[in-house]
Amino acid sequence: MTQSSGNGRSGVLALAGGVGGAKLAVGLARILNPNALTIVVNTGDDETFYGLHISPDIDTVTYSLAGLANPDTGWGFAGDTFNALETLKTLGADAWFGLGDHDLALHLRRTDMLRSGMTLSEVTLDLARRMGVRHPVIPMSDEPVRTIIKSTDGEMSFQEYFVHRRSEPEVIGLTFEGADSANASPVFQRALENVEAIVFCPSNPFLSVDPILALPDVREMIVASDVPRVIVSPIIGGRAVKGPAARIFETFAHKPPSALAVAEHYEGMATHFVMDNEDAASRGAVEALGYQVLVTETLMIEDTHKIALSTAVCKMAGVSI
Ligand code: GDP
Ligand code: CA
Repeated sequence: MTQSSGNGRSGVLALAGGVGGAKLAVGLARILNPNALTIVVNTGDDETFYGLHISPDIDTVTYSLAGLANPDTGWGFAGDTFNALETLKTLGADAWFGLGDHDLALHLRRTDMLRSGMTLSEVTLDLARRMGVRHPVIPMSDEPVRTIIKSTDGEMSFQEYFVHRRSEPEVIGLTFEGADSANASPVFQRALENVEAIVFCPSNPFLSVDPILALPDVREMIVASDVPRVIVSPIIGGRAVKGPAARIFETFAHKPPSALAVAEHYEGMATHFVMDNEDAASRGAVEALGYQVLVTETLMIEDTHKIALSTAVCKMAGVSI
């Protein structure tokens, strides 16, 4: 049974990228029923490799929820082998994007289903269910949106920047190609209208959450919604737990990375802000931006941390669990 908040709205909408998003999504999925949680995932990182449709953030979230994710890398299938990739290299492919054999099977199936006319939402839900995931994992859009990085080394696709160039070029601009004409996916649109709380997972604000917010009407609907909207900071003690978020604050947003900088980035979009104990000193400054603030442990290593943080987030938003 899902409890309703009294205004007819129920359930939580979680906005997620890959690794950081997946961690909180796992915690939320452990405490909320499948009909009380919708996880909407960034597809700005999607790419075509070897003719196949790759959705890295969707796969990270799905594998994590299914308990199949590689805990060492944060991406890919636990225990995967790379025989097909080795063969691709032998056959002359410029195989810098690491895809395991299990991964490739998933991408083959996804591409085939898309070619048969199914939407990315339909395909994602079907594949996630077959992997044992009970909570809905939804792409932000069924239409292509591609994050293009403008860097000191020129323009490049997200995967070129992130994987091939190991996030080394300095990000000085970002475009979400196709975002203007893409629509938020139907389940995402319904969730925006019906949920009782929105959670911004601790994902990269620029590369994982901003593409979602760039879709037509999404930012406006979130700003206008009167439900609790909770941000969980991906920056802890001035550093990103993983990935280029901290550096992008410096090179693109031109400010030192901090929980406060995250709060400023999302100013006006959310009502609640969760920061790490390490950042307690900036509590007042974040409150001054209009947020209700929770200071707690936000580093998620074990499932117990994911569950504890998710529980705190739901409690803060008044969501019964
Ligand atoms: P990506 O698409 O794989 O890059 O993943 P996301 O954008 O979802 O997540 C990357 C962000 O997650 C980084 O900025 C990290 O700082 C943040 N992150 C990763 N693990 C944790 C964690 O345990 N706690 C918090 N608060 N942030 C985390
Ligand atoms: Ca990503």
